[in-house]
Amino acid sequence: MNLQQRDKRVNWHPYTQMKTAEDAVPIVKGKGVYLFDDEGKQYIDAVSSWWVTLHGHAHPYIAQKVSEQLHTLEQVIFAGFTHEPAIQLSENLLQLLPDNQEKVFYSDNGSTAVEVALKMCIQFAYNQGKEKTKILAFKDAYHGDTFGAMSVSGRSVWTKPFGEMLFDVVFIDTPTSDNLENLKSQIKDIADEIACFIYEPLVQGAAGMLMHHPEDLSELMKFCKEQNILLIQDEVFTGFGRTGKLFAADYLTEKPDIMCFSKGLTGGTMPMGITTSSSEIFNAFLSEDKYKTLFHGHSFTANPLACTAALTSMELLLSKETQEKINLIHEKHKEFSKTLQQHSRVENVRQTGTILAWDFKTEQGTSYFNTIGKFFYKEFLHRGIIMRPLGNVMYLVPPYCIASEDLDYIYDTVLQVLDMKFD
Ligand SMILES: *Cc1c(COP(=O)(O)O)cnc(C)c1O
Repeated sequence: MNLQQRDKRVNWHPYTQMKTAEDAVPIVKGKGVYLFDDEGKQYIDAVSSWWVTLHGHAHPYIAQKVSEQLHTLEQVIFAGFTHEPAIQLSENLLQLLPDNQEKVFYSDNGSTAVEVALKMCIQFAYNQGKEKTKILAFKDAYHGDTFGAMSVSGRSVWTKPFGEMLFDVVFIDTPTSDNLENLKSQIKDIADEIACFIYEPLVQGAAGMLMHHPEDLSELMKFCKEQNILLIQDEVFTGFGRTGKLFAADYLTEKPDIMCFSKGLTGGTMPMGITTSSSEIFNAFLSEDKYKTLFHGHSFTANPLACTAALTSMELLLSKETQEKINLIHEKHKEFSKTLQQHSRVENVRQTGTILAWDFKTEQGTSYFNTIGKFFYKEFLHRGIIMRPLGNVMYLVPPYCIASEDLDYIYDTVLQVLDMKFD
């Protein structure tokens, strides 16, 4: 049996209808921006393997550092114990965040980082004897697939079977200069009951790379603060350079109370989630009363290997070379946007830093089930590029190490594929 046949016998893939799915592509090796299948075919990873890979696959420096850590200390319980990689990572990360962020809580992925943030906010009110259990979120939000994270995500085909079991969330539109006053009055009516507002800053990834302006978000954040609503800024996707700056926070004038990180955190090397908090939040859990403790943890909390991968990835991220590459991607995307904008089958071209997205005009309308995405996916794969359209939304989120020529190849291929005949 080959890898594909063996895979089919035993594996259940994420976000995949296994009845109709094509055989999974067996990847045997990664190097930089490339992945290689079992027949030696090379693919450019234009989606950073689900938006996580920053410096390329099998990065030798990260591999070396993680390997050294593996031979020193691979794992230790994080309740009652600590270690250098976790301390150093927390110190380094906090230095880069808005200056009100003072504590780091570790977990395993983006969804758990969100769960922790939600529990912090709900218990923040509880510890003060207040009943505040409503949560505010954006209509098309995506914050993960666990139950809490699903609850604060927009209701969609992904959440449908669980609808009844998701907790009550008030969904609002993303802010524009036109609707801001309306949003404020909507929030004001129920502000007393709202524990927190969770949002993806600037770019709503899974919703289809929807973008909003930092000025409008800043104003909404400011208003929520005035209404004593805690702010959870989910930077799971936007963090670590994706938006052109280190964090989406760097575009905003207001500071969140809590921040969530994952995807790019370890440079795509290992799973890890982080929830940071202000001292105001942290202090509300300090008590002689044991019931005021944050009773949350995971077996692998602050795993030393993942901490080391994150530390090393952040070192690479801050290097002049990487910062220049991020700028280069930004500039090249911007240039290509102009060409895309003129294409008759393209609309809503949008960009934030290294993220470039556009809608393919289609009769089918915008839907995740739009078959055109599948068509494009296969055409790109055939041409050695991994792209994964969300319905009719096409986007590029390349690793920062991508060479200029590889970007050009992707752009050329996009134009070729856009002009294909189908239906
Ligand atoms: C991907 C994502 C999550 C969930 O992260 P997982 O690691 O997939 O659980 C949460 N929030 C945002 C904004 C994301 O893009």
